Amino acid sequence: MQIARRPLASGDTDYELLWLAVSVGGVGLAAVWFKLHLPWPICVFHNWTGHPCATCGATRAAIALLQGHFLAALAWNPLAFLAYCAIGLFDLYALAVLLAGAKRLRIVSLNLSQQKCVRLFLVSALAANWIYLLIANPSL
Ligand SMILES: [Zn+2]
Repeated sequence: MQIARRPLASGDTDYELLWLAVSVGGVGLAAVWFKLHLPWPICVFHNWTGHPCATCGATRAAIALLQGHFLAALAWNPLAFLAYCAIGLFDLYALAVLLAGAKRLRIVSLNLSQQKCVRLFLVSALAANWIYLLIANPSL
């Protein structure tokens, strides 16, 4: 894997601005959703099977995290908790480079075996998270 630090060239996608806007917009929409007391999202998989899906508890994990209840957020959905933390770190990085006009970090090469390792890691993390939810079943 090779990571480079380079300025944003004309025609490049500004991933920092794009994903910062998406994540901040998502939090804003969720805040409006709950402020208007709209219904919570229902898990179709859980309704049909009685078992949690791999993302069950992600909403409650986000709410617990935003309220500063880190262990509760971790218990609701560990993978969602880690994803929210990663998104938060990315947002801090994106805000810093956008405000400073700094060079951007980019993965410039990832060979085939590295791509397979990343895929295997992601699938394993998703499976381990789902197994945790099936065993611990924090939503019931
Ligand atoms: Zn679910």
